[in-house]
Amino acid sequence: MTGEKDAQPATTAVHTAALGALPFDDLRDFADASRGLVAAAAPEALKRDNGFPIWDMAAYDFEDAEDPPLTVNPSLWRQARLNRIAGLFQVTDRIYQLRGLDISNMTVIEGDSGIIVIDPLISVETAQAGMRLYRQHRGGRPVIAVMYTHSHVDHYGGVKGVVSAGEVASERVRIYAPSGFLEHAIAENVFAGTAMSRRSHYQYGIFLPRGPRGQVDLGLGKAVSNGTITLIPPTDLIDRTGTTLTIDGVSIEFQLTPGTEAPAEMNLYFPQFRALCMAENATHTLHNLLTLRGAEVRDSRAWSAYLDEAIDRFANRTDVVFASHHWPTWGSGNVREFLADTRDMYQFLHDQTLRLINHGLTPMEIAETLTALPPGLDRRWYARGYYGSVSHDVRAIYQRYLGFYDGNPAHLNPHPPVEAGKRYVAAMGSADALLSVAREAFADGDYRWVAELVNHLVFADPDNQAARELQADALEQLGYQSENGTWRSLYLTGAHELRHGVLAGAERTTASPDTIRAMSVDLFFDYLGIRIDAGKAAKLSEMVLNWKFTDIGEDYAVTVRNAALTYRRGVQDPSAAATITLTRAALDRVSMQEATFERAIESGEITIDGDAAALTGVLDTLDSFELMFNIVEP
Ligand SMILES: [Zn+2]
Repeated sequence: MTGEKDAQPATTAVHTAALGALPFDDLRDFADASRGLVAAAAPEALKRDNGFPIWDMAAYDFEDAEDPPLTVNPSLWRQARLNRIAGLFQVTDRIYQLRGLDISNMTVIEGDSGIIVIDPLISVETAQAGMRLYRQHRGGRPVIAVMYTHSHVDHYGGVKGVVSAGEVASERVRIYAPSGFLEHAIAENVFAGTAMSRRSHYQYGIFLPRGPRGQVDLGLGKAVSNGTITLIPPTDLIDRTGTTLTIDGVSIEFQLTPGTEAPAEMNLYFPQFRALCMAENATHTLHNLLTLRGAEVRDSRAWSAYLDEAIDRFANRTDVVFASHHWPTWGSGNVREFLADTRDMYQFLHDQTLRLINHGLTPMEIAETLTALPPGLDRRWYARGYYGSVSHDVRAIYQRYLGFYDGNPAHLNPHPPVEAGKRYVAAMGSADALLSVAREAFADGDYRWVAELVNHLVFADPDNQAARELQADALEQLGYQSENGTWRSLYLTGAHELRHGVLAGAERTTASPDTIRAMSVDLFFDYLGIRIDAGKAAKLSEMVLNWKFTDIGEDYAVTVRNAALTYRRGVQDPSAAATITLTRAALDRVSMQEATFERAIESGEITIDGDAAALTGVLDTLDSFELMFNIVEP
């Protein structure tokens, strides 16, 4: 018998403890999340042509119940109910927010004649729905500027639902972003893009059913939308803190915060409205220092320092603070406390982790020692770990300073999962002996031990059905216990795939056409190098290929040697085996797989002078990546 199980007594005990420890009678967040409601969002789901939902808040109607189900951590349940409050809200005079239409918020600032849109959500479809709702209630003023607060897709992907590329090209609309925006928006999604996309299925619970035993919330927002991702490159980069602009009668002071929640990020202050937009630097959750889908680790020290700078520059002049996730905080005293607490939280984690590092503690030891924020922060709802967590953030800080190796030579060169698994099973005597120990641990509620032990058996023998079921049951209880929305999604997705296998035909494209068009040629060659299969390339002799891009006037000399691709920009090598002449548009068509190199050569779109076989020799070594690789089994 496979399938979801009820909450076990050990899980119920975790939930009871949470109910006793946290201030559930403090309802200020519910008041703030509903304050200024102009119109609730329509309940109808947005769907793709094939019926697949893009955004469906009605799937969460089960969260109407005030009392948490036994299968959801009560603290996460509370956050889930807050994140369900969706619609158009007035933040203050001339500032409106669309919340609950995607994982992120879209903010509209009303200028003298038009509007400024901050962070147009992930998908064209959800952004369009937001603009419709806004216009129904606030009229049809044109968009005259868009601001991307930072380089994450949930803050720019829906831009073509707000403005067209033509409006930007004709300079009727300007797009502002922090310096470094485009490089980071693209680079982050290219080099490790396939693995990050696959791991994001787990982090966001994309294939989980919605329900008390499935996906309930991501902590940062309800879910990620699944529509059309677009990108219009910014027309104006903000490169200095203190930059002040007046756009359509609205003055804006900018604070750059690189290396905080994103490598390129900025806060915006609106002096006329005494309002502060904190981008994603201060929200109603402890945030990620390392995103569990995989990313470059963030700098908690810089994060704290930029929060202090924001307090110093703006707090005395601020009556309301809002962000691109969650609800605003009103009242100058509350604003100051919220920002100072958030600052302290990242500084505390940084300093205490390093203190323990210098006592010689290793990542899991730190995570088990430093389990909570100090009492003054721990009971603040906005400091709870709904998206980041103390447990994985302290390990991220360890990684930032000391890397993957914990210093113990026993961990320097262990067997990989399948080989270790076989040896663990043999050491236990047999698969059944291992399972019987694991079943006892399950009965005792030690699901972490079950997960570790049975994982060895699943990797030794993925066809062992009893092992898969027990492992799924343990991951499921860990999911039910999690206060963190992404931990819950990760555990429950692992359980789901052990029970039902990896969903076939669920491919989601990782690089949208807009992303490919915005890639630099450098990035194209970087990624080409990543795709070279070393085994196939071993037979290639050293070669240089010249590339000439006629429309953008760029030259490259690309060397392939020892299965490694390197390149020099602005150079043509006279000893090159061949020269490839093409346009950037032709390269984009090949990158988007609208044409193959071979076809483009046949049609004359790409021409080769010299040894044509040199290029095909390299192309023949290129690897391609399957998105739906296994995670919880070999
Ligand atoms: Zn975001």
